[in-house]
Amino acid sequence: MSTANTWPGSRPADHVLLRARTVFPVSSPPIDNGAVLVFRDRVALVGPWENLAAKLASPMAENVVDLGDTVLLPGLVNAHCHLDYTNMAGSWPPPKKFTDWIAQMLAAKAEWSYSDYAQSWIDGARMLVQSGVTTVADIETVPELLPDVWNTTPLRVFSFLELTGVRSRRDPAEILYEALEKIDGLGHPRCAAALSPHAPYSTSAELLRLCARTARERKLPVAVHVAESEQEFEMFFAGSGEMFEWLKRNGRDNSDCGLGTPLQQLERAGLTSKSCLAIHANYLDETDFILLADRGVSVVHCPRSHQYFQHQRFPVDRLIQAKVNVCLGTDSLATVTPNGEQPLALNLFHEMQLFARSNPHLSPETILKMASLNGARAMGMKGQIGEVSGGAFADLIALPFSGKTADAAEAIVNFSGALTASMIGGQWAIAP
Ligand SMILES: [Zn+2]
Repeated sequence: MSTANTWPGSRPADHVLLRARTVFPVSSPPIDNGAVLVFRDRVALVGPWENLAAKLASPMAENVVDLGDTVLLPGLVNAHCHLDYTNMAGSWPPPKKFTDWIAQMLAAKAEWSYSDYAQSWIDGARMLVQSGVTTVADIETVPELLPDVWNTTPLRVFSFLELTGVRSRRDPAEILYEALEKIDGLGHPRCAAALSPHAPYSTSAELLRLCARTARERKLPVAVHVAESEQEFEMFFAGSGEMFEWLKRNGRDNSDCGLGTPLQQLERAGLTSKSCLAIHANYLDETDFILLADRGVSVVHCPRSHQYFQHQRFPVDRLIQAKVNVCLGTDSLATVTPNGEQPLALNLFHEMQLFARSNPHLSPETILKMASLNGARAMGMKGQIGEVSGGAFADLIALPFSGKTADAAEAIVNFSGALTASMIGGQWAIAP
């Protein structure tokens, strides 16, 4: 991605010095009475207020924005979302079987028009900005929306074009060619497109292989749902079960089943690599943990979606122990159950809070990294987003905070309410 930003938001002067009660860079320890110097779309300096103020000449005074009692941190990185489905929020109660949910979803999608999807995408993007996300890895099922929807939001968007092809029985090479043609026509200063072969069960082994080869050649990230349900695990591991039978009836050539776990299906296709975002990865065997770690695959966990489907416990401890990069995502609102307290909205803070409740032994710092730094690493954007450091994009958010700096991480994870400010690429997405 290049540096310019097409969103017609308000850009402060070339230089702006932001001051906050606490600056929480995530990549380095928090700073009491801190400051961040932004130059155009990048962070130039981070440090204590006195140090930065002393360094700067007097004409800078008018470019100081004192954010007061706030904590200033990197904008959150949502490592998995489906903006297309935002307005399907609350459509279905949690299903008994994963395949029932897929069937419901396919029927609903067939009823939706282009404008339904466009509105849904735009509404979802607005929810993300309001809740502190500055970069999203989004799965795009309606590529015709691009690039128009990109220009409706200040967000940094990686749109992973969804590829399937079981029911259509189209030639995998043709499916991929169509996606690449779309990607090639999409030059954009702030957003970019990549590939998402949907899941091992909804694609052919050949399509997975072609995607892996193309992603390597073009250095494109790849997002793929994998090992999400028990039925998917059974399909690939045992070559049987409800999902196996259902897909067989729908014309899938299941000769690639019964050979190993769903993750091993990706490995055989050559998809497991540093540029791979493995979405969900709920059902893994012992060799899968080693495989994920060896190949440098990132795993994206979506706590509220996980809860909706009532999957077995997410193996976060085993993943951390194996040194796998674990990130957090919101998934779509179609797989979030309203809980009565929080309005149904895409919100990575809500995901962090549920994750913290399920994993009280993990520190708030660890959880915050999963929603920032780790997502940046997964997208090949380490040092660019997900942290406040010299040379990174000026993607920053400020939250009301009047506590002690030592308590900032906990306050961030438990945050609810309205942001004080959000800046993306040096422009205000939410002005203070
Ligand atoms: Zn998904």
